[in-house]
Amino acid sequence: MTRQGFKGNKASLPSKPCLVCGLTMTWRKSWAKNWESVRYCSEACRKRRASAAAATGGGS
Ligand SMILES: [Zn+2]
Repeated sequence: MTRQGFKGNKASLPSKPCLVCGLTMTWRKSWAKNWESVRYCSEACRKRRASAAAATGGGS
């Protein structure tokens, strides 16, 4: 089998950017069951996102 534009196989694990900080998150075993729903690289980013959403359109 061939994979175009794919060098090496160490990076065979899936990855995607954190929605908050943009850091590339590489698949972890602990995420195996919920990789689809993982959007943040860390709990800190998750909270950051949550607080940012809550602050959006804030009045006083
Ligand atoms: Zn992050």
